[in-house]
Amino acid sequence: MEDCDFAVRRWNDLDIDILVKIFQSFSIFELTSGIAHVCSAWRMACCDPLLWKTLDLSILKSNFIKIPLEPYVYVDGRSDKELTRVLKLSLSLSRRNILTLIFHVNLYVSDDQLTYTAERCPELKRLVLPAWNRIKKSGICKAIQTWKNLESLTMPSIANPPYLMEEISKNCKNFSELKIMGPCEILCASSIVTYLPKLKVLSLRCSMLLKDVLIILLDGLQHLEVLNISHCLLYEVSPPPAAKRLVRELDHFILERASRLRKFITCMKDTCIMCQRTKNDEGLMRWYKYEEGLWKADEVQGELGDEEQNNKNTSLLYACTQKHKCFVTTSMHKI
Ligand SMILES: [Zn+2]
Repeated sequence: MEDCDFAVRRWNDLDIDILVKIFQSFSIFELTSGIAHVCSAWRMACCDPLLWKTLDLSILKSNFIKIPLEPYVYVDGRSDKELTRVLKLSLSLSRRNILTLIFHVNLYVSDDQLTYTAERCPELKRLVLPAWNRIKKSGICKAIQTWKNLESLTMPSIANPPYLMEEISKNCKNFSELKIMGPCEILCASSIVTYLPKLKVLSLRCSMLLKDVLIILLDGLQHLEVLNISHCLLYEVSPPPAAKRLVRELDHFILERASRLRKFITCMKDTCIMCQRTKNDEGLMRWYKYEEGLWKADEVQGELGDEEQNNKNTSLLYACTQKHKCFVTTSMHKI
């Protein structure tokens, strides 16, 4: 009799919470593969807010080639279509519940895709969007205007940062964390200070960094609590004819200014593999050469960094340095 009962149980009878738990282990491709069409219970589970707090598209890369003219990248139409498909399905299932949105460092989103996404996740708090080659000023500004609750942004270096910082300051009142993947020049630093003076967390890791930029940021950002300049190539420029000079260690002048920070994360070691990589790539990291997902790591855990990746990469770096009988790669100064 029991066997008979078991035989007629329907998918609909399965507890929604259990379904949600199972679906939490699914990849974005699995979640958007049509399982929402199985029955009404599965559709309900597929739309549960628990599944959509974070939309992590960091397993999706564009099929692209670099080109000599703007936007300096040509994206294959099929990979564009695939991104549009995944965005349409996942944004529909998410029912505007997405709080964190992560795009791969080699995923080149178009203006239309960004606008479509922004309109469907208006509650967004954290955006990781490291590739902007195809995004125009109007596209990102439109998105920022939609994201009034944005608190955290990971972005690449851009040629004209003031308009972006101004747009963020006008629209995102709780904005407090910024990570720039690439050089932060003087114009960028001064626009951060002008428009985002209440910034609390800033990461500029693995890049070229002018000492004057560091001073502008430390002097101007009076609310800054955490600054990460790990594995940066710090340099200073002397008046002509002297060329730029690599700074080997932080001087008293910098350390004194940084002393009020809760965390000042630095690493300037010849023995550190990440410092070596920044040097070899001349301050513009070619992330595709390295371990998958390494670009997501940040010493600022839980805020800008991907915690899972951080742990993996920390052990990776530690393992590597131990092999070479060196010290740990990241020194963390709690001052
Ligand atoms: Zn380092």
